[in-house]
Amino acid sequence: MHPIEDLAAARVVVAGARVTGSAVARALVEQGAQVTVTDSSPDLLAALEGGGISVATGLTAPPEGTDLVVTSPGWRPDAPLLTAAAAAGIDVVGDVELAWWLDRRRPGGPACWLVVTGTNGKTTTVGMLEAVLRAAGIDAVACGNVGLAVVEAVRAGHAVLAVELSSFQLHWSRSLAPRAAAVLNVSADHLDWHGSMAAYAAAKGIAYAAAGTAVCNADDAGSVALAGDHPDRVDVTLGPPGPGMLGIADGNLVDRAFGPGTGGEVLAGVGDVGPPGPHNLANALVATALARCAGVGAAAVEAGLRSFVPGGHRGVTVSEFRGVRYVDDSKATNPHAARAALLAHPRVVWVAGGLLKGADVDELVAATADRITGAVLLGADRAVIAGALARHAPDLPVRVVDSGDDGAMTDVVAAAAGLARPGDVVLLAPAAASMDMFSDYAHRGRAFAAAAQALAGERAG
Ligand code: ADP
Repeated sequence: MHPIEDLAAARVVVAGARVTGSAVARALVEQGAQVTVTDSSPDLLAALEGGGISVATGLTAPPEGTDLVVTSPGWRPDAPLLTAAAAAGIDVVGDVELAWWLDRRRPGGPACWLVVTGTNGKTTTVGMLEAVLRAAGIDAVACGNVGLAVVEAVRAGHAVLAVELSSFQLHWSRSLAPRAAAVLNVSADHLDWHGSMAAYAAAKGIAYAAAGTAVCNADDAGSVALAGDHPDRVDVTLGPPGPGMLGIADGNLVDRAFGPGTGGEVLAGVGDVGPPGPHNLANALVATALARCAGVGAAAVEAGLRSFVPGGHRGVTVSEFRGVRYVDDSKATNPHAARAALLAHPRVVWVAGGLLKGADVDELVAATADRITGAVLLGADRAVIAGALARHAPDLPVRVVDSGDDGAMTDVVAAAAGLARPGDVVLLAPAAASMDMFSDYAHRGRAFAAAAQALAGERAG
């Protein structure tokens, strides 16, 4: 008997003791399963042990008699425990697959799943989706890769789940058949984990495979390729929508897919979407299309989008001083995201750099050079970005901050302020990971905001 048929009798190993692994372990214990959690950190395991959960540090193979392994998203597919399980014929699934199973058995019936994946914009889009669903009076929650594990959302019994899924989670899913799914965009990322671009894109494509409706970003070649000839496909575009699409016309978000007669129903104004920028309009259109799939009426869209509170470090204005705005988009940790962040502003002093992890920035710089008025570079790969700027914008003033200590961001912001003219935006959109200098992107964003606010305070004082 497969463990899904009788979790109460199953012996399950959970790989990972962080947010997702802990939620998975608790959900399995609730089902009556015998649960062993493994992780490399004894501290994390110690915090979890008890209440029916056993722990084992650093398992490299499932113990004799294991029926199922449930892995957390961060675990690489070539981790010894996972390959050993597969070699022994033991089923390995991810937390989302487990959540799907549990949801099928929920006493009140399963929830309506609306799935969002893509290289960039996932968290923003599920946030917008949650806001629109709630504006329609629906009991909805954003979950997945956003702090609340999908198993927790299922256990809580919400009617509609706005599920953010990473390529890792999709890789380990196989039964998922959401009411609707969207792949926002596909750009090279996590290639070390997946092994190739094709494997990464294929993982994203799992979202569409059994979805009732495929919401496709017609402006992104990767999304279009994956949606292919899905039998129920709804496209969104930043241009005027054709029949069956959602898009932008005359400064409004217009629906020609779900509205009456599909002649075009105005759902909201471009100004209702924030933070501003084409990328967030795309996110809003995708969120709207998904909400419409769940039966949300037109009236809730505007109210929902207006009520949406953007996440920190995603295009947030943190200071304004002498006609210059300082915008923190520290979450732009890859070139594709930084490109979107730059395209949201006409004149930018660009603050960039960190760990590029081999990513190419030439295309990004070539596509955005016309709006960059100056650049300040920091972090491990600052010279790589300096090289791209020299090739594509040789006349641009560039300042390089070599120091990597705590005060570096103060020097960065001072240099940026020196380059900015009234009307410019000083934009932190690093195109790179932060771990060379900061504990994470939020830490980097806070350092930028603090330096920008201190500068404004000093100069005003
Ligand atoms: P994710 O959850 O996929 O990391 P977020 O919503 O947190 O996405 O946004 C991360 C960053 O990606 C943002 O700060 C912004 O720079 C960029 N971004 C957001 N939406 C898009 C989009 N649709 N296309 C490209 N870049 C985007």
